Amino acid sequence: MPIKLDQNENPYDFPEELKAEALRRMAARPWNRYPDLHADTLRDAVARYEDWDPAGVVVTPGSNVLIKLLTELAGIGQTVLTVNPTFSVYTLEAELLGARLVQVSLNPDFSLPVAELRAALEREEPGVLYLTQPHAPTGHVDAEADVRALTEAAEAAGWIVVLDEAYHQYSRSDYRDLVREGPARLSLRTFSKAWGLAGVRVGYLLASPELAANLQKLVSAFNVNLLAQAALEVALEQPGYVQARVAEGIRERERVLAALANHPTCQALPSQANFFLLRTPDADAAYRHLLSRGIVVRRQDKLHLLAGCLRVAIGTPEENDALIAAVDDLR
Ligand SMILES: *Cc1c(COP(=O)(O)O)cnc(C)c1O
Repeated sequence: MPIKLDQNENPYDFPEELKAEALRRMAARPWNRYPDLHADTLRDAVARYEDWDPAGVVVTPGSNVLIKLLTELAGIGQTVLTVNPTFSVYTLEAELLGARLVQVSLNPDFSLPVAELRAALEREEPGVLYLTQPHAPTGHVDAEADVRALTEAAEAAGWIVVLDEAYHQYSRSDYRDLVREGPARLSLRTFSKAWGLAGVRVGYLLASPELAANLQKLVSAFNVNLLAQAALEVALEQPGYVQARVAEGIRERERVLAALANHPTCQALPSQANFFLLRTPDADAAYRHLLSRGIVVRRQDKLHLLAGCLRVAIGTPEENDALIAAVDDLR
């Protein structure tokens, strides 16, 4: 089996007992009947878990669907503003839907270019601003004051502000309070990473009831199937397993980064997510070397500012040991 470190997934499956309970519930439900129209039971469980007004929650099959809907809400011809490099789905959907895509270069240390983003917010026709915390694909976390300043400036200029928090458990950051303070802000969250449920495909957003209602109109009926709804209801009733896994993920991330710190040719860049960038002298050679050791990572070396970079997810301790050994031999 290859060691799969290319999609930032959780290296551990959904716990066995919870999977068994989810399967029991799936079996007990009538598969010939349509599920909850808007997954209301699941939405209410998410709202309880996040301490959020259920009217401000929208649930979809993966948060990638929400990114598509946000681009649609922004309206064809409006602007999608993000940094460069950024999460590929933002730019893909903007291009696909014909929105005007504006990207501002990150600073060389991967921090947010606050002044340039502010200028773009004033200059461009409003649309959707994406702020990813921790950032993907760098794993960088910005100063809360910068995120707040950009959020407030964007909202005042008529933009919708998306705080994509797909990896927030690994940085112990949480922008719910900032999102609560304004009507045009939302937090995008997913069960695909820390929860270990990427295959079930469920993501959600937390927003004001008004913004959530506008987005809910764009969600097709019955979009979360009854099997996924059953699995997620079980996860949200017994979410305790996530904390221990996140703690291990953070410990392992710091262990891997420390183990690679003195490498003569490769540089493991600091990260607050469940992945990190490995800057190599030759990304193609490094990628093929890791593959020859059965380790699959993601090339990012064609992206702006990321020359030579591979993106590597944190795996199990054994997988990480194999990675450290393989990178050690890369010199
Ligand atoms: C993984 C990821 C998501 C989540 O995608 P899903 O469709 O929910 O699996 C969202 N945003 C970023 C930046 C991600 O890396």
